[in-house]
Amino acid sequence: NPSKSKYHPINDACWSKGEEVPYLALAKTLEVIEATSARLKMIDILSNYFRSVIVLTPEDLLPSVYMCLNQLAPAYHSLELGIAETYLMKAVGQCTGRTVQQLKAAASKAGDLGAAAAHARATQRTMFKQPPLKARRVFLALKEIARMTGHASVNKKIAKIQSLFTACRNCEAKYLVRSLEGKLRIGLAEQSLLQALALAVTTTPPDPEGVKVLDASKGLPAEEFKARVDSNAFTIKKTYCECPNYDAVIPALLQYGVKDLPKHCALTPGVPLKPMLAHPARAVQELFDRFEGSDFTCEWKYDGERAQIHVPSTADGSSADFSNAAIFSRNQENNTSKYPDVLHRLPSLLKAGVSSCVLDCEVVAYDIQAKQILPFQILSTRKRKDANEAEIKVQVCVYAFDLLYLNGAALVSSPLKERRALLKEHCNHIPGEWEFAASKDCSNIEEVQTALADAVKGSCEGLMVKALEGPRAAYDIARRSHNWLKLKKDYLEGVGDTVDAVVIGGYLGRGRRAGVYGGFLLACRDSQGEEYQSLCKIGTGFSDEQLQTLSQQLNEHLIDAPRTYYRFDSSHRPDAWFESACVWEVRCADLSLSPAHRAALGLVDRDKGISLRFPRFVRVREDKTPEQATSSQQIAQLYLNQDQVKNHAPAPTQIE
Ligand code: ATP
Repeated sequence: NPSKSKYHPINDACWSKGEEVPYLALAKTLEVIEATSARLKMIDILSNYFRSVIVLTPEDLLPSVYMCLNQLAPAYHSLELGIAETYLMKAVGQCTGRTVQQLKAAASKAGDLGAAAAHARATQRTMFKQPPLKARRVFLALKEIARMTGHASVNKKIAKIQSLFTACRNCEAKYLVRSLEGKLRIGLAEQSLLQALALAVTTTPPDPEGVKVLDASKGLPAEEFKARVDSNAFTIKKTYCECPNYDAVIPALLQYGVKDLPKHCALTPGVPLKPMLAHPARAVQELFDRFEGSDFTCEWKYDGERAQIHVPSTADGSSADFSNAAIFSRNQENNTSKYPDVLHRLPSLLKAGVSSCVLDCEVVAYDIQAKQILPFQILSTRKRKDANEAEIKVQVCVYAFDLLYLNGAALVSSPLKERRALLKEHCNHIPGEWEFAASKDCSNIEEVQTALADAVKGSCEGLMVKALEGPRAAYDIARRSHNWLKLKKDYLEGVGDTVDAVVIGGYLGRGRRAGVYGGFLLACRDSQGEEYQSLCKIGTGFSDEQLQTLSQQLNEHLIDAPRTYYRFDSSHRPDAWFESACVWEVRCADLSLSPAHRAALGLVDRDKGISLRFPRFVRVREDKTPEQATSSQQIAQLYLNQDQVKNHAPAPTQIE
């Protein structure tokens, strides 16, 4: 039928122009993506789906994007699904005449509850044929379920789930159940989705019936076309970094096209942006090599929690609206209710004339009497949500180090020297409450060494070294940039940075460690974020109590079999597998090539991966998601940066 979608690769899930997108079209797309391991192929499949949606039913693009990412709203809205498996089994069991035990057994056999539910649904006969599910309605229902709270909500949730489940066809049940569990498991990284979106808008052809031409690239030669896709992807990704809110980005993309997207989705107080991150430097000389004669500053590197503080202006724009101020974590989570004390003091920070701003800061535990910075471990004992100001035991001091937005204008493109001057001009320095990060602008090695020694004496981890002027001095949103270098005391002695690894497996403990896990299989993620590659086994650095707590935490993420995107050697097969959920910081003696581990396989050596030698557990990184764990690229870089490798091997150059 020519009036049906001709762009969709999955023929039996077509729909007509203007019609709501069938949920089946999305579910089938997810199914094909799940069965694909090549990233470019995934992008291709997804972009076909997006293109169909854009041409036929553009208003369904937003729910589609969210459902592909298993999100319901921007991260800072904290609206998440994660329905307990027992409730889901109850809901599915009641609909399909199966007991929870039967479903449990089926889930274990099939590898996940989604697949078991789909099988149960397929073999179930229903009296009334329900109308097919529509993508946008499923999305709204998922949001509704996530918002249900309180005692009576369990039954309401189950009823809502059942009403969706009984209408499922084909593979829909599988992805519905996984969405409800909060684990889509199709191995699709957000960057790939953004790339697919760029490809879709670049290939959306002019439509005689008036569909907007999002990018007139039809008929371009292959090279130019590819360059156009990449440039569109760059714009979309950059815009999304400044404004990580699909509710704003997708409608603007559809309405104004890629070129004008940045004009309509700029940095706004209230919408947390992805922070700039630093690269490790291993030697003081490296700073001078990197900054090549341009001025840099050495700021103290405080060991606390990153806080992006947003103060919007009142509706008429005349003054700061403190009642709507917010504090966000490095992952754009809303931490406002964790720091009522900081919020309360906020008006004293800003000088008269500030009507809106975004500050980049580190919140650090602080002993007011001793006027002393306290270690990160003390800060981590603070209540995470809804803290009552009167009951707060761990006091904090906020160290402001950057100003990203002031009085209606973004400052991210201005050099740090200017941003820092504006920060000091418009904010107060109140000892023990609000302080500017201590800094020293250095021009020789001795000055850097003195600054490092001072920072360590001042209870800091080391230095953050930042370009002050020129093109290197802008704020690189969402980038781990070479324009910020972190120089920790430990780096000068050891391997360099610690590694944030994802725990994917556990080995049962013996002797004193019986009953808990005594060792773990750690992984890094590959640079595209679609694989977890084994990095090392670890069994050192834990106290007995820690092993108890960590084992309990990990048991919440038990899975029956390794995910298809876990890469490991059978000689490392653990006793238990975990969902890639927990991130641990580990230190090691050095990194070496390994025939059995899969981390960074192919980046440094064609056949060997890289592993950590003598890894020791440092701490759990609750502030990091698995996607933010150390990447294979970074592992390769750490490996190559080692003196023994630099001095003895012909240095490969492919790693930047
Ligand atoms: P990363 O954030 O680089 O992935 P990480 O979370 O392990 O790594 P570190 O490597 O310890 O953190 O260093 C970066 C963090 O240091 C920043 O995210 C910020 O929270 C903190 N920090 C402390 N002082 C400063 C400062 N003066 N400038 C920038 N960041 C600082």
